[in-house]
Amino acid sequence: MEILDGKKISNQIKDEIAAEVAQMKDRGEKVPHLAAILVGNDGASLTYVGSKVKACERIGFESTLVKMPSTTSELELLKKIEELNKDKEIDGFIVQLPLPKQIDTQKVLLAVDPDKDVDGFHPMNFGKMALDMSTFIPATPFGILELLERYNVQTQGKHTVVIGRSHIVGRPMSILMGRKGFPGNSTVTLTHSHTKNIDEITRQADIIISALGVPGFLKGDMVKEGVVVIDVGITRVTDETTPKGYRIVGDVEYEEVSKKASYITPVPGGVGPMTIAMLLKNTLLARERHREKAAL
Ligand code: NAP
Repeated sequence: MEILDGKKISNQIKDEIAAEVAQMKDRGEKVPHLAAILVGNDGASLTYVGSKVKACERIGFESTLVKMPSTTSELELLKKIEELNKDKEIDGFIVQLPLPKQIDTQKVLLAVDPDKDVDGFHPMNFGKMALDMSTFIPATPFGILELLERYNVQTQGKHTVVIGRSHIVGRPMSILMGRKGFPGNSTVTLTHSHTKNIDEITRQADIIISALGVPGFLKGDMVKEGVVVIDVGITRVTDETTPKGYRIVGDVEYEEVSKKASYITPVPGGVGPMTIAMLLKNTLLARERHREKAAL
């Protein structure tokens, strides 16, 4: 069994990006600038955004954090998005989800300029991804592809079972694993909460990508020998023995499943760090595109 070490690979990717940024600086070019809008004080969101800003500093990107109160109206948020859309200094930005109840998430995601949509959530970018066109691939699926590629995990002709059909992980992952090329060329089964006899389906899988957010959902008797397991789940469970009072767990019963797996991602240290690295990669891509556009 080999661990798909997201921490190690994400550090490699950040080093590669940092080297490119250093070259940009040497050439006197503008460095990539990522902005994040955070509405409210959700603990997990604060942590995620904080890690993204820290990662930007480490690799030499400019970063801007826009904090808005939880009482922010939809109109106020849309105005802020328009400001960032127009700001030539900013190459890409994200709106941290989830948003407070009074705000329509779909409306917000549609308002982001697709050229700055480094999360890859805008329907235009999602459509391009589905049509194999060059675009911003949502960071978590992009990170999973990168892990599979860098560990040279074979996907062609394999049966990939994706658990969960969210717009940000499961659904795009199912499209990407089924597309032509590597990683891809898989035969994909997309499962969700209405899927019957899911254990019979997972037992047939060569590759399982689990993104449902139910701790310990995937058990040892639900997988076959040699399976490749990607655990996307991140759930905080109370643990008074830890300094923070909680620990992070995935969707996979790691002890049992790792005994049968050929490759597996740990939680933490698997998909999570890859997500941040790929957001940075998308921001670098956005900078390059903006530079090319400006040169026209
Ligand atoms: P989500 O929007 O909550 O969707 C969960 C999906 O799982 C839904 O499609 C749901 O089916 C399905 N599901 C729920 N219970 C199920 C069951 N018993 N059997 C089969 N399918 C079931 O999920 P998400 O936003 O994709 O997040 C999933 C997990 O990944 C969460 O723990 C989240 O924190 C984590 N995550 C991690 C990263 C990372 O960077 N590592 C990034 C994003 C998300 P229905 O559609 O039928 O409701």
